[in-house]
Amino acid sequence: MKIYISADIEGICGVTDIDHTRREGKDYDTARMLMTKEVNAAVQGAFQGGATEIVVNDSHGSMINLLIEELDQRVSIISGSPKPLSMVQGIQGNDAAFFIGYHSKAGTEDAVMDHTYHGRVVHTIRVNGMELGELGINAALAGHFGVPVALVAGDKKTTEEATALLNDVEIVTTKEGIGRFAARNIHPAVAREEIRKKAQEAVQNIGRVRPYVVPPPLHLEMDVLFSNMADRIAMIPSVERVSGRRVAYDCKDFVTLYTMMRAMTLIASTAILK
Ligand SMILES: [Zn+2]
Repeated sequence: MKIYISADIEGICGVTDIDHTRREGKDYDTARMLMTKEVNAAVQGAFQGGATEIVVNDSHGSMINLLIEELDQRVSIISGSPKPLSMVQGIQGNDAAFFIGYHSKAGTEDAVMDHTYHGRVVHTIRVNGMELGELGINAALAGHFGVPVALVAGDKKTTEEATALLNDVEIVTTKEGIGRFAARNIHPAVAREEIRKKAQEAVQNIGRVRPYVVPPPLHLEMDVLFSNMADRIAMIPSVERVSGRRVAYDCKDFVTLYTMMRAMTLIASTAILK
């Protein structure tokens, strides 16, 4: 039983501010320690539930956040960036995925550090007309490879997003947002125990969850924050400029969509005013 863990940082219990999430932030070391411990809790629960192999993908920022020496010795760790499948690199061939430390899509109210891939670029992403955040898009890419998401941990709005999108997913709510940069957290030790328990249950009930699949053909729409970002994205051949801040792209499979979405985000990021 192979379990895959994608670990972000914004949804980790106790993490509430960009001082936690940026490498130069004053509280970054605390946050990465909390992130590592939450991943370990999921790993412990998964093995208790019957997992035989676990790979952890560091999925935040430059993707070198997890304290590798502190991680459970039974896992292997994917770290660094860029990676072709980014937050879901290495998903192929696993029986189920866990999303730990996840956050809500951009524009969600009372959601801790809500954003979609790039907070200074992306306003909204829609796939076949449906607004999706990192949770939904990563779940759909996992679904493309037949891998269901069995556990999601993050703030209240994130676990609500998960429940609405993914049937029978186990959730752990680590905190409740009070705006974008404030939250009421449960104690991190309590969050970890809950994650351990739900991870164990998720693996034990693995047959219950089904992959989240967005059926092709696929239509990707991205609204960016400023029109000059769309100016640059429109330089990519086969991308359609829909309006001032909206671009679109059609394709047949989710890997192509994901790769284009990341390319769009990267080229748009070159227009961020310093
Ligand atoms: Zn992140």
